[in-house]
Amino acid sequence: MSKASRFPGFQPIRRDRLIQEKVHDAYKSRGKLPEPTVCPDCGALFHEGRWRWNSAPAGAHRERCPACHRIKDEYPAGFVTLAGPFLSTHRDEILGLVHHLESRERAEHPLERLMKIEDEDGGLLITTTSIHLARGIGDALHHAYQGQLEFHYNDADNLLRAHWER
Ligand SMILES: [Zn+2]
Repeated sequence: MSKASRFPGFQPIRRDRLIQEKVHDAYKSRGKLPEPTVCPDCGALFHEGRWRWNSAPAGAHRERCPACHRIKDEYPAGFVTLAGPFLSTHRDEILGLVHHLESRERAEHPLERLMKIEDEDGGLLITTTSIHLARGIGDALHHAYQGQLEFHYNDADNLLRAHWER
């Protein structure tokens, strides 16, 4: 099986060719948001061009943020698959690292969130609200435990799959 066919619609991409994610996730956006806008689901505030964890002033426009839209629609931007015997024997430690990374990212960036962690084909599938977080998880696992790391990018929908195996 070629690498390209592992994830239909996705092409392998080198780490250094990954483009920086667009500053704004355009998922479900209907043009420019008024400022300030508060997300009624998570409370994040859109202010000065980005989403932050600030409290909303009275009278702020209310509109769901892209991360909450993705969670509600079950439509991830990032997919991280983990596989291999090392995963099986170090699962708790690896998941601890994933959760730690997410809480650090999310504390700074409201749109960086884990969606689900599911068992899949003897390994794990982790879905995220952003491609940045998916890439970060792949990089963090590779940095901590080496193994094989691949990135596959879907240009049409701006989706990223990371596959880590050890
Ligand atoms: Zn939200």
